[in-house]
Formats: sequence, C-alpha cells, structure tokens
Amino acid sequence: MRKRTMVAAAFAALTLLVSGCAPTTRTATHRLPTADASGDTAAPKPPKHSDGPDGSDGADVSPPSGATPTKPPGTPPKKPPASGGGGMSGPLGTQRTTGVRAVALTFDDGPHPVWTPKVLDDLKAAGVKATFCLIGQQIKAHADLVARMVREGHQLCNHSWKHDLKLGKKSEAEIRADLVRTNQAIEKAVPGVKIPYFRAPGGNWTSAMIKVVTELGMTPLHWDVDPQDWAKPGATKITNRVEGSARAGSIVLMHDGGGDRSGTATACPQVIAWLKKKYGIVRLA
Ligand SMILES: [Zn+2]
Repeated sequence: MRKRTMVAAAFAALTLLVSGCAPTTRTATHRLPTADASGDTAAPKPPKHSDGPDGSDGADVSPPSGATPTKPPGTPPKKPPASGGGGMSGPLGTQRTTGVRAVALTFDDGPHPVWTPKVLDDLKAAGVKATFCLIGQQIKAHADLVARMVREGHQLCNHSWKHDLKLGKKSEAEIRADLVRTNQAIEKAVPGVKIPYFRAPGGNWTSAMIKVVTELGMTPLHWDVDPQDWAKPGATKITNRVEGSARAGSIVLMHDGGGDRSGTATACPQVIAWLKKKYGIVRLA
C-alpha cells in the first residue's frame, strides 16, 4: 500500500517533470493562463535550452514510455474559435485563432538546416503559406533559409533569442533586449522584412512579456492545435492529432527545429493537404 503510494507519487513527479521539459509541451487548454508558475513550490526547473547553433537542443526531450501527457495531445479548445477579428482568445489575450474559416500553420524553433528546407518544400508543393517562429541565435548561420521563407511568401515571427522558457519572468528591459536582438538578427538576414508576431517560448506568457511585445508593435501569437510533435510521436500520430483537433480558424503549432523533426517532416504533406481541403490554409496577416 505504502509502496504503491510512493510509486504513484514518483510517477506523478516524473510526469510533471516531463511535462515541464519541452518548449511547447502543453496543449492550449491546459496551459492557461499563466505559465507563470511563480509561487509553485513544487514546480520543476525546466531544462536549459542548449545553445547549440543548429537547434538540436533541449527541446528534443521525449517522455519516457508510459509517461503520458495529462491531457490528450491536440485537445481542441473548449470554446469554438472566434469568428472574425483575429481570434485573440489565447492566454492573456494572445491570438489563438485566425478569425476566419481557414486555418494557419506555424512552425517553431527553426531555422534548422535539415528540417526547415523540407517543410519549405512541402509548403511550396502545396502552394500554401505558413508562419515561421524563429530562434534568434540560429538565424545568422541559416540566414539563407530565412531569406527563402520571405522570398516564398511566408510570414515571420520572433520566438526569442535562445528559447529561454523563463524569459517572461525577467524584467521588461531584459525581455525587450532579447526581442530586439532577435528582430535585429532577422532584419540583418532579410533587410526591411516585417516581423509582425512574437510567440513566447513554451507559450509561457506573462503580462510583462505581452506589454513589451505590444510596445514593439508585434502581436502575441498562441495556437489552438498542438499535436506535440516535439515529443516525436511519429508521423501518423502527428497527422491524426492535427486532423482530430483542428477546427475552422485553428492555428496549428508544429516544429521545424529543436531536435529530430523527421516525424513532422513526414507528416507535413498529408497534414497540409488535409487542412487545405477541409478548411483552406491562410497566411497570418
Ligand atoms: Zn519553441
């Protein structure tokens, strides 16, 4: 009995630890609203996102077998997407839906020399545009990929300098410096390009972060469909999760960086074709 309790407690702790590991681990529904776990004494310390230049980093964390997420991946939002007006129904008023019937694709944690080109090829083949949420420190080495994104009509989003999951808890000055540095790296790669969006690492929004993002003229971008592709569940699951939880107006979160994204890359053609046929795919404005 006692041993069983301890095992259960250990399992619970492990699950908690795992769910706190990846940059974008949680479904939209269970990340509300303050990923800001201040005061949570039992909060596990997220691993440091490594500073690897190619994005092969701490995001590449798979849960051990048996440790399942507390909620099924890809859980749709409880409320239907807002109709019109950009769908600012995410945590702390962030954008969660497109505001129209068509869905939007977003790819995080790139640019990555292996996976980003594959995703770009798939988008090109399907004739659709996506939004890429870029990590600042990876841009210089892959400026050509950022240039290609822009040349092929995709939208850009600042995803912070080095994916610090606790960035939102820092001072406004520190947050601003991080975001500005990232925007400058993007602008250096593609002079004059617009960067209309910012997405918090891990979706860890705080009001200080939202304030800075807004002051810098960017829109805080969340999502409403998260297939948890970061955990490498395989292409079939990624596809099924997206198809099972997408709604009209969904913003779909996937990853083209942060680890081995072969599953995402394999899933992409099918996911893109399905979403395009069912809802249409729109580029965020
Ligand atoms: Zn991320």
